[in-house]
Parts: sequence; C-alpha cells; structure tokens
Amino acid sequence: MSTQDTANGASAAPSGEGVSDSSYSFTGGCACGAIRYECSSEPVLSFNCHCLDCQKASGSAYASCLMVPAADFGLTGEPKYYTVTAHSGRPIERGFCPECGSQVLARLPHTPRIVILHASSLDDPSRHRPAVDMFASRAQPWDHMDPELPKFPELPPLPDSPLFEVRQP
Ligand SMILES: [Zn+2]
Ligand SMILES: [Zn+2]
Repeated sequence: MSTQDTANGASAAPSGEGVSDSSYSFTGGCACGAIRYECSSEPVLSFNCHCLDCQKASGSAYASCLMVPAADFGLTGEPKYYTVTAHSGRPIERGFCPECGSQVLARLPHTPRIVILHASSLDDPSRHRPAVDMFASRAQPWDHMDPELPKFPELPPLPDSPLFEVRQP
C-alpha cells in the first residue's frame, strides 16, 4: 500500500461528497524510495531554519521545513534517527533514510503531536511556502535570505495551537 501514486496533483476531488479543504493531502519520501509518507492536512508552519543543526543536517546553509500534525501523517519504511540537543535545550530526533542518506523528518519528543518534514523530501517541493526565517542569528555570511520573509534571531512565536503543547517525553 506504500506505492499508491497520489502525488501528481492531477486528481480531481472525488465525486459525490462536498469535500473542500479536507481533500488537501501531499506525499513525499527519501531519494531512493525506501521511505515514503503521506499527510492529509496542511502544514501548521513552514520555515527556513538557519541553526547549526539544520546546517549540518541539510548539508547547506539552512533547512527549509514544514511542520505537520502527527495525527494526519503516515510513514512507511524505517528511518534511522539520531538525537541532538536543540537550542531550546530539548532533544530533537532527526530521521534519515539508512539506504540513501536523505534527511526526511524530525520529531520533537516534547511536542509529539508535531512532525517536521524537510521540504526537499516533498514529491512536489514547489508547493512549499516558507513563511519565516528562524535562527537567523546563526546564519553564515554566505547565506542569502529572501528579504521578503520575516526574520527571527531565534525561534519565532509558534502558532497558537494545542499541537504545540509541551509534554514530558
Ligand atoms: Zn532512501
Ligand atoms: Zn534548525
């Protein structure tokens, strides 16, 4: 069931029901296809993160990512996770494909209702609309940012949503 091809964006809404925004969904995965995912709701927050961890993980100046509700997210395949300490002092688990090495997602054990996806893993990355630059104070001198986007030296205020409730892991 992991290879259903819903990624072309060509499918019209199913007939019959009065579906509207609830039909939103997107898919993605790693470079080799061993890891695939599907999400049935819109991102809660899309951002470019310039922190050092994201520089290391992305192999570039920053990581462009989106946060989605864990409840609407389904994964096939088995990412390998490593844990680093984020600037908040809390752990972040970064998941990559053990076959091809692609960074795919990250989990925050203290906010388990959120999954962070790398925009590079989207089947259609052109849909991605980063809304903020975060940890801009950590950006390298050769990192050129979109002047149109709001810049936050550290973490921006998060959306007012129960999804971001902090829990003990
Ligand atoms: Zn892979
Ligand atoms: Zn980061």
